[in-house]
Amino acid sequence: MQTSQKSNGAARSRRHARSAYSKAELEEIFRRFSIQRPEPKGELEHVNPFTLVVAVALSAQATDVGVNRATRDLFKIAGTPQKMLDLGEEGLIQHIKTIGLYRNKAKNVIALSKLLLDEFGGEVPKTREELMRLPGVGRKTANVVMSMAFGIPTLAVDTHVFRIANRIKMAPGATPDAVEDNLLRVIPKQYLFHAHHWLILHGRYTCKARKPECERCVIADLCRYPAKTNDVPALLVELPAQMIGAEALHESE
Ligand code: SF4
Repeated sequence: MQTSQKSNGAARSRRHARSAYSKAELEEIFRRFSIQRPEPKGELEHVNPFTLVVAVALSAQATDVGVNRATRDLFKIAGTPQKMLDLGEEGLIQHIKTIGLYRNKAKNVIALSKLLLDEFGGEVPKTREELMRLPGVGRKTANVVMSMAFGIPTLAVDTHVFRIANRIKMAPGATPDAVEDNLLRVIPKQYLFHAHHWLILHGRYTCKARKPECERCVIADLCRYPAKTNDVPALLVELPAQMIGAEALHESE
């Protein structure tokens, strides 16, 4: 009895305080993600930091594919804050009216373009605090922009990341901010830069909301989700790039 209590205690202490996984298990999980997707990329098309801010702002409650379809032509003519202002709210609406909440989003994009010109010399700022001053830009958007536009390691917690962190007890938390804090503590430093995309892509294509596809999962043996349907890890191979993007067309979430 005493021995088993001791060994349970030792196992617990080897685990990371904020995760159900040990440091070595977390290393292994992200090592496998890094082999599957060595260079994960966001699916939102953009041509510079400004268009990334706009694309992310437009993507709330819309699919990346839908946003890309609308912005492809838009960014050819309005790729800077000044050109966006020149296009004007009504002109912008003509490009984005296939996207949900487009009226509100158009207002925000025009307002943030103006603020960038008035206070930041037309450049997108690099700090979270400054980014969050832009209309329509919350913490998640700011994190995405910092990471994708400027290469600053951050972790934006979207619906997929939030679900995985809690479902498999990698970094449980009641709110996106709590999950973000925990993930930043438990993800091995060398994997932090791409972790956001790995978790999103894993959630979108494998660990899906309604029915996780555990038989296709490369971390099935390590996963601590009590309702997982398989515990034999899928073959660890690099996924073809088209598999990362194309399935978004059929995304049901
Ligand atoms: S085994 Fe299933 S529940 Fe666990 S991470 Fe993989 S897909 Fe998700």
